[in-house]
Amino acid sequence: MSFEQLGLSTDLLRAISDQGYTKPTPIQEQAIPIILEGRDVMGGAQTGTGKTASFTLPLLRRLEHHSNSSMSPAKHPIRALILVPTRELALQVYESVKTYGKYLSLRSTVIYGGVSIDAQINAVRAGIEILVATPGRLLDHLHQKTLVLPKVEILVLDEADRMLDMGFLPDIKQIIQLLPEQRQNLMFSATFSEDIKKLANKILNKPVLIEVAKQNSVSELITHVVHPVESIRKQELLICLIKQQNLQQVLVFTRTKQGADRLAQQLIRNGISSAAIHGDRNQLQRTQALDDFKRGLIRILVATDVAARGIDIEELSHVINFELPNNSEDYVHRIGRTGRAGAKGFAISLVSKEENQLRIGIEKLLKTRLKVEEIHGFEVMNQQSQTSDKETTGEMRQKCNSMVIQNRKANSFAKHGETATRFKNEVRPKNSRRTEKILDPLFTQPYVSRISDVETVLVKKDELNVGMAHKKHGLSNRPLPALFISPVVSKQK
Ligand code: AMP
Repeated sequence: MSFEQLGLSTDLLRAISDQGYTKPTPIQEQAIPIILEGRDVMGGAQTGTGKTASFTLPLLRRLEHHSNSSMSPAKHPIRALILVPTRELALQVYESVKTYGKYLSLRSTVIYGGVSIDAQINAVRAGIEILVATPGRLLDHLHQKTLVLPKVEILVLDEADRMLDMGFLPDIKQIIQLLPEQRQNLMFSATFSEDIKKLANKILNKPVLIEVAKQNSVSELITHVVHPVESIRKQELLICLIKQQNLQQVLVFTRTKQGADRLAQQLIRNGISSAAIHGDRNQLQRTQALDDFKRGLIRILVATDVAARGIDIEELSHVINFELPNNSEDYVHRIGRTGRAGAKGFAISLVSKEENQLRIGIEKLLKTRLKVEEIHGFEVMNQQSQTSDKETTGEMRQKCNSMVIQNRKANSFAKHGETATRFKNEVRPKNSRRTEKILDPLFTQPYVSRISDVETVLVKKDELNVGMAHKKHGLSNRPLPALFISPVVSKQK
């Protein structure tokens, strides 16, 4: 099926084509025609499936007849309200609204907490048709009467499960009281808990249920591996994995904000550029960290579950769970950042004995065993055999051992007040294989996802001489995307 067959307008099709999308994703194929009919929708889809466009495109189409260039704010009442759980997601959805609506005269803005309310008040006062908001800050505006919602025709609750997890239910209920009864409701959630069903029953009117992936299923393109390790040695192992595999862009999850900060600091002390994002960081810091990560200026982004929700990074190859999440469903959300759009992904979990129950919970949810791979030098004493798939990575032993020594050195440097080194100047162990292919400077360039040739270069990734390949593609003067570096597992095969 093509976008043209979905009933979208020429202006929207033009914007889609500008994005380079050639065909709708399954959720778009299913949701767009139903939303265009004016029906309520309960959508089961994770990030990475194209779900944002699946509601943004028909929403814009349905509001298109309100397009006008009048200067009067009264001519631009809020017609659509999109509620999202986090500031990051709010910004991403807002970007999508602007991107897909660029040829329409509909106005939009985004409001979220943690930043000054004044600029938001001015933006809303000028008149906007589409408002993307986090519930808490929207309520602030409603209480202060800096905005009203009597003309809302479409309500979207995106990542509804996460909004409930974050305790937004009372806020959502209050907001709904202030909306006109007659409206179209679209609710998206990656999971369908009892609470979500209750909320859906309350809000949605004869909804059409659209599910694109099996509930709580994960992409088959993702390779999962668990490394058992004592909790106090996790940092050491993480540093070892990053260095040994020369990982250039990894999203690492911790359970707590303090843990995220501590880990990011420790990585920096070990010469690995990194930053942490979590709820205690202000908006500017979060945006900056995410931007630096996307641009390849930092290798490791350490995040808590809430902060990472909705992060959209194209072609992220590795997600590492420094700690398993308490809630198994968060595992699905975490690793949903990788294995997107047909690319392969690797989900690595560092699991201590204390976390074995959490691992079992995740396996139950996924209905699959996670492959367990012990790393020599990091074996867990009295570790009970965890699964029949248990393997030991001999090749890793020597490499990690050499890294461990290096890390201890790096730590002792840090203790003695040495400046933290960035990855380009990493202290390397004497016997490290500096000249091996993987450390070629061309390989270590961060990828620049906006370059349209990225795909061409990536498919040629096994060409032995990267310099030649680079030239061959006429990219001598362009940055080369990071090479897809195979993980421990595939090396063992
Ligand atoms: P989402 O699930 O909304 O977070 O979208 C994930 C990614 O898919 C975003 O980077 C979108 O730009 C991209 N995307 C959305 N729709 C399509 C499409 N039809 N074809 C290719 N990429 C898409």
